[in-house]
Amino acid sequence: MTRIVEPRPGYQALSVYRTEARAVEIDLSDNTNLFGSAPSAVASLAQWAAADPARYPTLVTEDLRLALGGWIGVAPDQVVGGCGSNDVLDSTMRALGQPGATLAYTSPTFVMTPHFAAANSLRPVPVETLPNGDPDVDALLATGAPLIYVATPNNPSGRAASQAAILRLLDRASGVVILDEAYTEYTGGTWAREAVARGNVVVTRTFSKAWGLAGLRLGYGIGAANLMAEVEKARGPYKVNAVAERAATAAVRHDQAWLDQLVATTRTMRDSVVRRLADLGFDAGGSDANFIPIRVRDARDAAARLAARGVGVRAFSAAPVVGDVLRVTIGPEPMMSRLLDAIADVPR
Ligand SMILES: *Cc1c(COP(=O)(O)O)cnc(C)c1O
Repeated sequence: MTRIVEPRPGYQALSVYRTEARAVEIDLSDNTNLFGSAPSAVASLAQWAAADPARYPTLVTEDLRLALGGWIGVAPDQVVGGCGSNDVLDSTMRALGQPGATLAYTSPTFVMTPHFAAANSLRPVPVETLPNGDPDVDALLATGAPLIYVATPNNPSGRAASQAAILRLLDRASGVVILDEAYTEYTGGTWAREAVARGNVVVTRTFSKAWGLAGLRLGYGIGAANLMAEVEKARGPYKVNAVAERAATAAVRHDQAWLDQLVATTRTMRDSVVRRLADLGFDAGGSDANFIPIRVRDARDAAARLAARGVGVRAFSAAPVVGDVLRVTIGPEPMMSRLLDAIADVPR
């Protein structure tokens, strides 16, 4: 057997990310935008000429950074693009963490966070969220970690951290704070300009959720220009493909009204589904995002029952703080009706 590498500590124990592949008619499991994609992005895909794929994309997403800078109100060099925000998170950890350093993160949260930390030779340390869903800022700070990760809104709760909690974290953190804002379009707020002003904060955002462009794999980071330059080094050139960059740039330039409408539609549907679930005896409240956490007695069993009825959801079993929950993406009414029909006899 050929020995290719000497595995790094913590790396060998990681496993390849997989989702439970279920043949379902209605997939409510991954929080992508089930209402559709930004129309100018879709139109841009149709404009590709036969000769276009032969060329490299822009070196470091110059066009997109210009558009995003204008949209968010920061300079283009305070933005960094990546192949999904996964790539930006991964590159940020590699760029800013010394091997062996601690990365403290709220738990439960995005599963890839401790994975990328370990893959980059950091030591991921989970810190349970408070019962109300807010990050436990004092406990995060008490780890002394030079890197702290918080998702707001968080996943799987959907809850946005309180303004007071984030401000307290930013005021007291001595190292770098990563704020994952994958769902922030649904709340209307962002810490992006604060990140730039403070200089030790990286905000990560994505086109995979509200913009409806998960298939294009495009995310970005926002922070002080010197931090973004470090992340860029770790990420490397030409990482965002030309199709994605053109499509997303068109969306940012032209689809604000579409985005506003999408967010309003999603929130209205979310609140309606939470109410209808409450009528059935389920607690599914508290989300500020495009998905809801439905508390059930046994998440694995509940997800299997729903799958048998053609509805795919994500099960969290005995998760820290939240226990057993189904994470369910909000979509158009026909999908939500199917969910509500299928869940009716699942034990609460
Ligand atoms: C979905 C999600 C992302 C998005 O990752 P991409 O690589 O941009 O598709 C990032 N963070 C969280 C918490 C998410 O739920």
